[in-house]
Amino acid sequence: EETEPVEDVRPQSPVKPMTATEVKVNVSIPEAAERAAATGADGVGLLRTEHMILSLNRTPAKFIADEGVDAYVEELVDGIRGVADEFYPRPVRVRTLDAPTDEFRQLEGGEEEPDEHNPMLGYRGIRRSLDRPDVFAHELEAFRRLYDLGYDNVEIMLPLVNDAEDVYRSKRLMEEAGIDTEKRTWGVMIETPASALGVEEMADAGIDFASFGTNDLTQYTLAVDRNNEHVADRFDELHPAVLRLIGDVIERCREHDVDTSICGQAGSKPEMVRFLVNEGVSSISANIDAVRDVQHEVKRVEQKLLLDSVR
Ligand code: PEP
Ligand code: MG
Repeated sequence: EETEPVEDVRPQSPVKPMTATEVKVNVSIPEAAERAAATGADGVGLLRTEHMILSLNRTPAKFIADEGVDAYVEELVDGIRGVADEFYPRPVRVRTLDAPTDEFRQLEGGEEEPDEHNPMLGYRGIRRSLDRPDVFAHELEAFRRLYDLGYDNVEIMLPLVNDAEDVYRSKRLMEEAGIDTEKRTWGVMIETPASALGVEEMADAGIDFASFGTNDLTQYTLAVDRNNEHVADRFDELHPAVLRLIGDVIERCREHDVDTSICGQAGSKPEMVRFLVNEGVSSISANIDAVRDVQHEVKRVEQKLLLDSVR
């Protein structure tokens, strides 16, 4: 039977609780890095690169046309570096560019973007990167420069992959960019049912981790638009179908020695935290303001598991 957790009334120590499950933090804008690092998180579970690009107010293609490739690569290197510095040597998982075309269309140069009926089912994430390996190469060049500068805490995360084919193609492009995929830590987001069902084949392709993007995984599993207020009450990251996919992925990843993580909003929810720790997830990444609560929730669940195991 579920019992309500006892409220934690102990004075908040600046020292975070020691937990087996790592608790990380999500960072959407580089400027938030200092505040994020101050939470005592074990690293960054998701650094979004979109803001670094969207804040240029131009599409990558337009920015490169105006300012040149080097300036583009430098923008990315500088943005990521600020966060990697703040957290060093804690790991920083950087997601390659993932903006839907409707967001790019609002920028200068956006008229060149495809006009799509369903941008969320369209040209975004790794699909776009694999379709334009020439543009993706500049992004990968930024990673290679960071590695050359000694930022061995930087990890590469690929968004919206569907299958091992996406992974093999991305891996080849990383290698062509001079990134040693054996040495560096890289992995995928689990955001589509296909990626969840095919995670073993992706493990064979060499990923080090799989991270649940539950915002999209929920949207695509339940066919509920995450941005549509009319169906907002049906958007449920704790739906049994979503949890079953997540639980299965964790189990199969454990068999293949692949780390599992969550970087969607649901990672900040106590119910999801309880589910994930019970399933044996490797790490949880939460919003800056939720990190402390998640650390304590993880600690409670781990202690309960320990007690249950000796009873
Ligand atoms: C997700 O889909 O859960 C996720 C973290 O990515 P985004 O919200 O940027 O799509
Ligand atoms: Mg997503």
